[in-house]
Parts: sequence; C-alpha cells; structure tokens
Amino acid sequence: MQKIFKIEGSIEEYVEKGRKYQFPPPPFECCHNCNKMVHFKKHGFYDRYSIVETFCGYVVCRRYICPLCNRTISYLPSFCLPGFTYGVKEIWRCLKVENQNL
Ligand SMILES: [Zn+2]
Repeated sequence: MQKIFKIEGSIEEYVEKGRKYQFPPPPFECCHNCNKMVHFKKHGFYDRYSIVETFCGYVVCRRYICPLCNRTISYLPSFCLPGFTYGVKEIWRCLKVENQNL
C-alpha cells in the first residue's frame, strides 16, 4: 500500500537529503491487511524512478511495516503519483497537448 505525504521545501531539497530527509513518523493506524490498530515500525527505504518538471532520476521512499502481519506501507513524496513514473503536472501537460492535436 502506498500513501502520499506532503514534502517540506522543494523537490531538489528532498532529493538532496535522500534518506536523511525528515520523513513522517511511523503511523499508529488500522493496518490495511490485518485490520488491527498497530504502531507501524520503520522498515527501510527503496528508490523509485521519477520524472517531474525539475527532476529526473531516483527518489527515496520510506517504508513502514505492520508488526503483526508484516505487511508494508510506503510513503511517497507528494510530487510522485502511485503507479506512474511521471508526475501529475507532466501527465496533465501531455493530455492537454494530445487534446489540442485532435
Ligand atoms: Zn497488519
């Protein structure tokens, strides 16, 4: 499961800080898999390729794990879109251009 969090500062600052970025604390919430209220634990990072207006390359995403069922959730920075390499603005710009060509 992926969640989006709002980043502080610019995309460049987020990318530059990498794993040292001040990510949101592990959430206390209902697990999407076991449906129990749990304190999620930090569970490493992964890199994700992203293309946005001012950046093209890998960005760090934080991962948390449910201590009961071991399912993970990851937090994507707000300029990323789950399931897409391109950001929202880039996808929108492509759709506008395509519509103008019809
Ligand atoms: Zn769980």
